[in-house]
Amino acid sequence: MRTWIRNPLACLANGTGGGIVVEDGTIAELVASGRQPGSPVDRVFNADRHVIVPGLVNAHHHMYQSLTRAHPEAINKELFPWLQTLLGFWTRLTPEAHRLATRLSLTELLMSGCTTAADHHYLYTESCSDAVDIQVEEARQLGIRMVVSRGSMDLSQRDGAMPPDSVVQDRDTILADCERVIGRYHEKGEGAMIQIALAPCTPFTVTPELMIETTALARRHGCRLHTHIAETRDEVAYCEHHFGCRPVEYLERTGWLAPDVWLAHGIHFTDAEIGTLGGHGLAVCHCPTSNMLLASGQCRTRDLEAAGVTVGLGVDGSASNDNSNLMESVRHALLINRLTYDATVTHLDALRWATEGSAGCLGRHDIGAIAVGRQADLALYTLDELRFSGAGDPLAALILCGAYRADRVMVAGRWLVEDGMPVGVDIERLRHEHSAMARRFVD
Ligand SMILES: [Zn+2]
Repeated sequence: MRTWIRNPLACLANGTGGGIVVEDGTIAELVASGRQPGSPVDRVFNADRHVIVPGLVNAHHHMYQSLTRAHPEAINKELFPWLQTLLGFWTRLTPEAHRLATRLSLTELLMSGCTTAADHHYLYTESCSDAVDIQVEEARQLGIRMVVSRGSMDLSQRDGAMPPDSVVQDRDTILADCERVIGRYHEKGEGAMIQIALAPCTPFTVTPELMIETTALARRHGCRLHTHIAETRDEVAYCEHHFGCRPVEYLERTGWLAPDVWLAHGIHFTDAEIGTLGGHGLAVCHCPTSNMLLASGQCRTRDLEAAGVTVGLGVDGSASNDNSNLMESVRHALLINRLTYDATVTHLDALRWATEGSAGCLGRHDIGAIAVGRQADLALYTLDELRFSGAGDPLAALILCGAYRADRVMVAGRWLVEDGMPVGVDIERLRHEHSAMARRFVD
């Protein structure tokens, strides 16, 4: 099946004035302005109202947190008190709640134009030990590409740490489940729909031993490694107090300074630490919305990129955002980086972080750009709403006027969103079921 997405209003790729031809799940041909595809097509989709960008890639999230958005006990707090408050409610997580939260978050992401979603799930209650399996089932049902980061915490209140005892696991249990889910689900190679990454949560919720043993396991299986680092000053102070060093040196001691690692947040680095990260080829997922909401600080994206660090973009957990709209985070990334640097940070930088940059975080070279041979993952937006009326540059308008919902989304050559709605998903029913479940997480 060859589909010609014809004559877009604008497209984030050179030489695509006449559109894009998709065949068997990949991009087969770019068509220049006024030209026809080189060989016959089976279908034509007329895109003259659409602005096309590569499917957005979300490199950091905690989907279960959608059950505690705008939680009355947690609003208006910074990370540590925010976590201390919410962890008590999160002990209530059940498989049904995790499933609905994943379904809702994946659907929200998809509708915003996201085609590959990474989640970092580190909360393992006794009843919800099959959290990865649930997320894989939900991603397959929806058809979205997903990187499920098997998170972990092995420090709890009995060790003087923040998490309640009921949401952590011992090291042997964690590593055995990591190995199980890698064997069961991790796909390798181009076009992979489901991948597993290993992701100890934070320096203040895991032991250095777990950090070290996780790297060995991931490297044995060719999986990527992910963790939160340098998100807040409190975390830096924790590392200095408990390990006698700053977060980057902690990464070095535990074997995490390597090109198979992507870090969430990466805010509180010195110049020398940024140079170290770049020298070792790490990636950082910038989470602007969460960083602003929790008053965590400003990621030094430009300095990181200049040092050789790949910068991607993530919405972060739904309790510190409080949504899963990646296109909105692209706008936030532009705005906060204008403030950090100057007006030479552009909408194209923000879009690059959310596409190629996030793909790089996930170690993927087959997604994140519109080019022949890449996966046919595309997001198409119209400019038909009042907010866009009067806009000149269509690509800039997406970000500056605040696009938040794609009209069409394609993953691996399949349309998963049509006319702004996810195909085969009853969103009213989903909202009803999810919001009913969320009521169990209040009081
Ligand atoms: Zn996070």
